[in-house]
Amino acid sequence: MDEFSLINCLKQPASVRDDVILGIGDDAACLEIPAGFQLLVSTDTLVAGVHFIDDLAPSDIAYRAVMTNVSDIAAMGGVPSWITLALTLPESNNAWVTCFSEGLHQALKLFNIALVGGDTTRGPLAITITIHGLIPKNTAVKRKGALPGDEIWVSGYVGTAAAALACLQVKTLPALPAIFREKLWRPFPRIDLAELLRTHASSAIDISDGLTADLQHICDASQVGACLNLTAIPLHPLVLSYFPDKALEFALQGGDDYELCFTAAPTAEIYFLNAKCVKIGVVEEALGLRSWDKDHGQMPLVSSGYKHF
Ligand code: ADP
Ligand code: MG
Repeated sequence: MDEFSLINCLKQPASVRDDVILGIGDDAACLEIPAGFQLLVSTDTLVAGVHFIDDLAPSDIAYRAVMTNVSDIAAMGGVPSWITLALTLPESNNAWVTCFSEGLHQALKLFNIALVGGDTTRGPLAITITIHGLIPKNTAVKRKGALPGDEIWVSGYVGTAAAALACLQVKTLPALPAIFREKLWRPFPRIDLAELLRTHASSAIDISDGLTADLQHICDASQVGACLNLTAIPLHPLVLSYFPDKALEFALQGGDDYELCFTAAPTAEIYFLNAKCVKIGVVEEALGLRSWDKDHGQMPLVSSGYKHF
């Protein structure tokens, strides 16, 4: 496969959005931003051996690469619209590119995202996606904005991806329970919460490095502290049955869940309860993270998560 058939294979079957004035094929894409909206831009890279294992299907790699990017747009309260894809491949392998393209198109279709350009180079396998999202003017939900007295929420189970990874240490990929496989390679970013976040949240972040590490980012940006009710943190029943003693640690420190952690005033409680989000703590004036449970009372909580350097 030469470079141009490769790019052709990555092209979506048809133009999916009428706001793409120029897509793949010119020196730059030309995109129409609707009146009253602002652009959100974010980049994420997946590197072989760091973010995925060698025997993972190319379709899963593509799918995950799109979803981790979509998750960043979700955390801002936006809606994803366009991506560019920088692909570095050790060789131009027909079967690999075809399978990658399948997973890519599946993920893009799910959120009505157009692939509008990119770059193709030879080298160790790496996938960089830059995503663009739209958000009504001046409504982006930031890490900064949490106020003492706000409640801390998560959008769903945390620690599932870490449990799945731990499971992968002792089981082969096909033997992994389906729920774990899904969580690792087919994460589902919470775009469904975008409007609620824009309307009611005071701050938000997606959980990619780990709950405590990501909550610490909110606290740093907002100049506040947080106290978590450990018994309230939602743990998947499968994680509890596989790892009864480690489930909470996975939830606090494990990354890659791509759920959202956010804060909101207590008056917004009903909206987030209706959306099946879970309240796990409160924002406090005193800096630092603390935990609370009825056996130990308040205890300092060390924030730790995945760091590349
Ligand atoms: P240039 O040399 O002008 O940078 P290229 O020859 O690299 O352009 O790419 C030709 C067209 O194909 C451009 O529109 C570019 O955005 C697109 N393209 C290249 N690689 C990819 C890729 N991996 N995914 C999507 N589009 C790509
Ligand atoms: Mg050019």
